[in-house]
Amino acid sequence: MSELGEKRSDLLDGGTSCPICGYSSDKRQQDERCPGCGEAARTRSLAPFIERGLSGYMGTPPLADGRLLAFAITTAELRMLRPLFAEIVSVSLFGQYGEGGRHQQGVDIRDLSRFPAASFAAVFGILIFDYLTEIRQAMDQVFRVLQPGGLLFTMISPDRLTDGLSPPTVVKTIEAQPDYFSYLPSGTKLVSISVGRRWFNRELRRAGFRAQHLVIPDGLTNMTSDWFVGRKPTEAETGIAARLASGWKALTGAMRAKA
Ligand SMILES: [Zn+2]
Repeated sequence: MSELGEKRSDLLDGGTSCPICGYSSDKRQQDERCPGCGEAARTRSLAPFIERGLSGYMGTPPLADGRLLAFAITTAELRMLRPLFAEIVSVSLFGQYGEGGRHQQGVDIRDLSRFPAASFAAVFGILIFDYLTEIRQAMDQVFRVLQPGGLLFTMISPDRLTDGLSPPTVVKTIEAQPDYFSYLPSGTKLVSISVGRRWFNRELRRAGFRAQHLVIPDGLTNMTSDWFVGRKPTEAETGIAARLASGWKALTGAMRAKA
C-alpha cells in the first residue's frame, strides 16, 4: 500500500538562459553569478520554480490572494513573488531584508509563536534550513502557522545535501567576518549543516505535509537547485485520511478477529 503524501522527486526544465534578465550564452560558465543581472543560481531558480512548481497551486485558496511569510527575502526574490501574494511579511533572524521599515528582524523559524496558527498561505525561504540542526522543530512551527492547503517552499544548497536519510549534522560553524556574514551580531555563531534529501522529505511528511522534491537545472551553469515543497493538507483531505485510517483499522481488526 502506498503511503499518502509519498515522496516525489521531479526534474524540471530550467531553460537555457537567465530567467531574470534574459542573458544567454552558448558556453556553460563556471561563475554562478549571471553576467547580466548579477543574481546567483539559487535566485534564478526561483523563476522556473514559480512557473513549474508553484503556479498549479496559485489559483485556488488559500494561495490565491494569500499572505506569504518570507524569510530573508532579497529584492530579486521579492520582485518575483510579489505579484503572487496579497501581502508579503518579510522577516529574518539576522540582517535587513525586504523593504526597509516593514521588515522584522529576530524572527526565528524554530519559534514562530508570535504568529497565530493558520495565519499564512505560504512560507518561503532560500537557504534557511541550511543553517540549523533543529529542522524538525522548524517544520512543526511552519506547519502550525500555515492555513490548510498552504505551502512551505524552500531551497537548500545542493552542496549541503546528500542523497540518503542522514539527519542534519553540523559541517562548520560560521562567525561574522567583515566580508562574510557581516550582518551577524558580534559573538553570534551560525552552523552550516549537511542533510539527506530523503531525510528532509520524510520529516516533512512526519510534520504532516505532503512532500515534493524538485530539482531545477540552471540555465547558465552546470549547477542544479533543490526545491522542497510541503503542502499542508486541506480540511477535506485530513477528513478523508482520518476516515481511511479508521476504515483500515476496522478492516484489519475484523480480519484479526476472524483469524
Ligand atoms: Zn540574469
